[in-house]
Amino acid sequence: MGEEIQFNCPYCGENNYTDIFFSEGKSQTFIHDCEVCCRPIEISVSKDSTGNVSVDVKNDEGF
Ligand SMILES: [Zn+2]
Repeated sequence: MGEEIQFNCPYCGENNYTDIFFSEGKSQTFIHDCEVCCRPIEISVSKDSTGNVSVDVKNDEGF
């Protein structure tokens, strides 16, 4: 089972959702094409020991 995360596109600002599979205690980075503007979003997600999920998004210019 994956977990749904939500994030805002750094290009157009629209909400996006995706399902990810967490590795325990590890952060992971992947690319998700925006469902609205189709540009590649670099997403870093991590989950701490209390189960809090943090999501960090970047565009392809590193912003
Ligand atoms: Zn977008």
